[in-house]
Amino acid sequence: MSAIARALRPAVQRSQGVARSATAAAGRLSTASARTCRPSRTFNGQQLRSLSATARRCNDLDDLTPTPITHFSEIETAMQDSVSKFATDVILPKAREMDEAEKMDPAVVEQLFEQGLMGIEIPEEFGGAGMNFTSAIIGIEELARADPSVSVMVDVHNTLVNTAVLKWGSPELKKKWLPRLATDTVGSFCLSEPVSGSDAFALATKATETADGYTISGGKMWITNSLEANFFIVFANLDPSKGYKGITAFIVEKGTPGFQIAKKEKKLGIKASSTCVITFDDVKIPKENLLGEKGQGYKYAIGLLNEGRIGIAAQMTGLALGSFENAVKYVWNDRKQFGSLVGEFQGMQHQIAQAYTEITAARHLVYNAARKKEAGEDFVRDAAMAKLYASQVAGRVSGLAVEWMGGMGFVREGLAEKYFRDSKIGAIYEGTSNIQLNTIAKLLQKEYTV
Ligand SMILES: Cc1cc2nc3c(=O)[nH]c(=O)nc-3n(C[C@H](O)[C@H](O)[C@H](O)COP(=O)(O)OP(=O)(O)OC[C@H]3O[C@@H](n4cnc5c(N)ncnc54)[C@H](O)[C@@H]3O)c2cc1C
Repeated sequence: MSAIARALRPAVQRSQGVARSATAAAGRLSTASARTCRPSRTFNGQQLRSLSATARRCNDLDDLTPTPITHFSEIETAMQDSVSKFATDVILPKAREMDEAEKMDPAVVEQLFEQGLMGIEIPEEFGGAGMNFTSAIIGIEELARADPSVSVMVDVHNTLVNTAVLKWGSPELKKKWLPRLATDTVGSFCLSEPVSGSDAFALATKATETADGYTISGGKMWITNSLEANFFIVFANLDPSKGYKGITAFIVEKGTPGFQIAKKEKKLGIKASSTCVITFDDVKIPKENLLGEKGQGYKYAIGLLNEGRIGIAAQMTGLALGSFENAVKYVWNDRKQFGSLVGEFQGMQHQIAQAYTEITAARHLVYNAARKKEAGEDFVRDAAMAKLYASQVAGRVSGLAVEWMGGMGFVREGLAEKYFRDSKIGAIYEGTSNIQLNTIAKLLQKEYTV
């Protein structure tokens, strides 16, 4: 059993009672909901269109006492405490060294598996921790407080790769891969290509059906985890005559003939996270490595990235908090000028207060998007807003944190400059900030067009 699962066991046991009462309450709710389901909202006297991509719950939430969005369940709190301790004790001391080496320490990867952090939502029957999406988000955030590179490894593996197998894997694929993804096999998600970034579905990698499987040819770019991974979800077009409706998802194992890591990128930030170019030269894979249905790849990618960007938003709030805490410890404890701690000056205190307010607002957006996803509500706009705002806050706060620490913030002795460099990626991957703005605006326009 993983360390996290062991630590959480008492909470899980206690929560079984809670779960039973929650079920009973849900029963009461559904009876009530038949009578008093809230009417949908209106604008200018017109009924607003529902934009839900997922089934909307129709419970009368008035029967529940509303709780702050920052309230976690007992299990989620235990997750937060244990990951926070693991990140502080194990990851933080290695963050600078891994950044300088531009390499993830293999011992860290091993410990992530041991801690159960690579199978957060994988059910216990497959060797995972069997926890909820919010727990994954909390784990990603806590890891990013110490090192955003480690955080993105866990994020991509859990929110994109594991989720794809859980949602669309055949029973055989699940049986074969979920136990490995939970315990010893890192996964990668291969969508972007030299010709297709924001316009992801212009991808040129081709798949051809053969008598005993598929052949994949083409190339992928910017692939996170690719040095450490053995399991690759690859999007390729099986029928280019259908345009993006030919895009299909496949599983490719590292070591398959024709599969090659062609180049490792040197980056501005998250340097310990591997980002590589991969080429596929007539890579032959068996029939059973088709993930889900032919031609559904574009839908899977959209769905996964909608969820995944809540994870990136959590990475950014964790980063913002990490850089904030690193700097305020210094200005309120160590550095004196003009006879005072520099954090005593009002000019500094106002900036610190503003920064913390923005971090808190970003975290609320992240948790709310996660809760809406879990509740089966439409969360697409919430996820886009969370990622957009969290990455802006991460950039602003980590930049200010460098300034608050003066020269000590600028040198590579501490972590301030690293958080600042690491923050830039939040506005780029899993949809750039412009793409998030496009999504938010498109959904708003639909809602307010009568
Ligand atoms: C470190 C790193 C890790 C990554 N990991 C992965 C991974 O694991 N798997 C994967 O598949 N991909 C990954 N990516 C790729 C990432 O998702 C893309 O870089 C991102 O989607 C942007 O694509 P692009 O780089 O081609 O930029 P472009 O699409 O070329 O964008 C350039 C600029 O044009 C703007 N722009 C483009 N289209 C529009 C539009 N319609 N409206 C307004 N502005 C627009 C963008 O906002 C941006 O400012 C990673 C990238 C990096 C840098």
